[in-house]
Amino acid sequence: MNALQSEIEKLYSEQLTEWEQFREQALRLNEVKIRTFNFGNPNTGKYVIKTQYNPARAVSSNAKLDGKSIAARKCFLCPENRPAVQREVRLNENFVALVNPFPVLKEHFTIPLIQHKKQEILPYLGDMLDFAQMLPGFTVFYNGPKAGASAPDHLHFQAVRKGQLPFEQEYQLFSSLNRTELYSIGCQSYTNTNKNGRICALQNYGRSCLLMQSPEKETAQRLFQQVYAQLQASTGAKEEPMMNVFTLFENNEWNLLVFPRKAHRPSCFFAKGNDFKMISPGAIDIAGVFVLPRKEDFDSVDEKIISDVLRQVSLV
Ligand SMILES: [Zn+2]
Repeated sequence: MNALQSEIEKLYSEQLTEWEQFREQALRLNEVKIRTFNFGNPNTGKYVIKTQYNPARAVSSNAKLDGKSIAARKCFLCPENRPAVQREVRLNENFVALVNPFPVLKEHFTIPLIQHKKQEILPYLGDMLDFAQMLPGFTVFYNGPKAGASAPDHLHFQAVRKGQLPFEQEYQLFSSLNRTELYSIGCQSYTNTNKNGRICALQNYGRSCLLMQSPEKETAQRLFQQVYAQLQASTGAKEEPMMNVFTLFENNEWNLLVFPRKAHRPSCFFAKGNDFKMISPGAIDIAGVFVLPRKEDFDSVDEKIISDVLRQVSLV
């Protein structure tokens, strides 16, 4: 049994006992309402999007993320601002794991950097790959600073117990028809620098998704850097291209999935009156679980709205 994984599992069960507020939120997840919507067809690949009615997430969905608002609030990931009851497990020299006090999924952890530094993935991708390997029962993920992160000023990853996010199964089941190996079709942007790694685009998936796979950490990193540079070039972004990133260590290789974004929130988030919907997609939503804090949105959201939201926020 992996020692670090056992440690965070122990932290989770101990925090359930010693932290009442966290326990209430965690127990509430057992009663959360879920709806499941089916997309695709047998020829092009099937996938599902679930919706979750979760009133406790209104604060996060509604969070003001402009520089001024962020600077005005106390950073909830810095040790001095965390509640005394919230304990940590050290993962490596730079990161700790904490239970997420407002979980969206079961066994939901936040993995902040020890220092208060802005959210950016490139310098810390190696750490993220390490965590996926160190925590094989978990999916490790990242919200870009403008793609769903509620603390864009403090670098953090998240981890949830595997088996809760629809994409975890789907990316493996999608047939070869739906996986375009980008370098093998002569795409100029990607080069097959190493036979032990590949980059694929998942097709007919309702949103853009690039998959990088390699049994070698360095190769996985290099493939990610290629995708990053290509997204930067195609969007003209000088800063980090908008993205949600997932890492799973399975079958002795790293599986790195990048969901490129063009917007954080869809137009219905900014609409007035009956057209307003509190839909503010981050990594979990893009991965197949739409978190809806309002009952009226949970009741009214359908396949058409889901497809439209994905189209609006995903880079085509
Ligand atoms: Zn901080």
